[in-house]
Amino acid sequence: MTRQLKIAVLPGDGIGPEVMAEALRVLDAIERRYDCRIERTFAHIGGIAIDLEGKALPQTTIDICRASDAVLLGSVGGPQWEHLPPMEQPERGGLLPMRKLFNLYANLRPAIVFPSLTGASSLKEEILGAGLDILVVRELTGGLYMSQPKGIEGSPPNRVGVDTLRYSEMEIERIARVAFEAARKRRKNLVSVDKANVLASSVLWREILSRLGKEEYADVALSHMYVDNASMQLIRNPRQFDVILCENMFGDILSDEASALTGSLGMVPSASLAAGSFGVYEPAGGTAPDIAGQGIANPIAQILSASLMLRYSFSMNEAADAIDAAVARALDAGYRTGDIFFGRPGEKKVATAEMGTAIINCLGQ
Ligand code: NAD
Repeated sequence: MTRQLKIAVLPGDGIGPEVMAEALRVLDAIERRYDCRIERTFAHIGGIAIDLEGKALPQTTIDICRASDAVLLGSVGGPQWEHLPPMEQPERGGLLPMRKLFNLYANLRPAIVFPSLTGASSLKEEILGAGLDILVVRELTGGLYMSQPKGIEGSPPNRVGVDTLRYSEMEIERIARVAFEAARKRRKNLVSVDKANVLASSVLWREILSRLGKEEYADVALSHMYVDNASMQLIRNPRQFDVILCENMFGDILSDEASALTGSLGMVPSASLAAGSFGVYEPAGGTAPDIAGQGIANPIAQILSASLMLRYSFSMNEAADAIDAAVARALDAGYRTGDIFFGRPGEKKVATAEMGTAIINCLGQ
């Protein structure tokens, strides 16, 4: 029987609609190959939602997401909305409430350097070796960014700025399980990043990770690394990493650092997961206002986000593997959007839609 999947599609602003169109064409091809029907309901988020519905995350969009099994999101924001009060802007008024509302506590960011793109990375080829494949798992709803109390207290000149880093055992354990499970499906190596020499929350974090590792995930090699060392090791010897687990702020910084190794933000997808199978899938980059509307953006981050959606929300690992392999084949064949084009022999500079077509053609192989 044909499997029915229900997704909300939120293209957002800037290059969002351009790259989303290609991801949806790839999903069309997946429907044909894997006997499933992916029902899509479109909704607004970000700047376009402000313009058309008066706020960055309208109730209609929330309702559509709630009625879906997963959300495929573009990116939001742009200079035309920067004059608005911060809490009404596309990111703070759209994305952040979405994370909170749907309790998206686990953020997964794969940083993959495809073998044919090693020359595009910020690191030398001899350090990268043949390709690189790291997964950063970031806790997204607690830690230094979200804990209370928070704010600026008192009056000048004696004001105090306060942020709090608090994690409960439950919060640590549930994100640790996501990281252990991900490592189990990969190369079974987990590095948990903390600052246990200074932070009490890190001492608890380390204790819980060690217990879970011993009692339930003995098949995964677990090690602990201080965050300052981890940021150095990522550029010194990135090949030592498989899965990296971090609290919210450490993960924000390290996942961007890992993304930089891939050569272009246009290559990096992300998944934000809630308990169960619901997730929001989006490119790690923004709306690229400098190239929006020209049809030249790299659609790969959005296409790989669709692949993550099939893998994590629908357990369609074979279809997700097929998309990832098709992206690798299109790159091997020399197809390059402007952000990853270096004019080397064999490279063909293509527009957004041509890259989408190249990937779809490779899906059949
Ligand atoms: P950006 O990621 O949009 O762009 C940074 C650089 O990367 C630009 O040169 C851009 O052209 C390039 N780039 C990004 N994605 C690309 C792609 N798919 N193909 C080719 N090149 C690509 O970051 P920014 O310029 O700092 O931000 C622009 C807007 O996006 C801002 O309004 C910002 O708030 C927003 N933003 C949104 C998100 C999100 O929705 N999750 C994330 C980051 C930034």
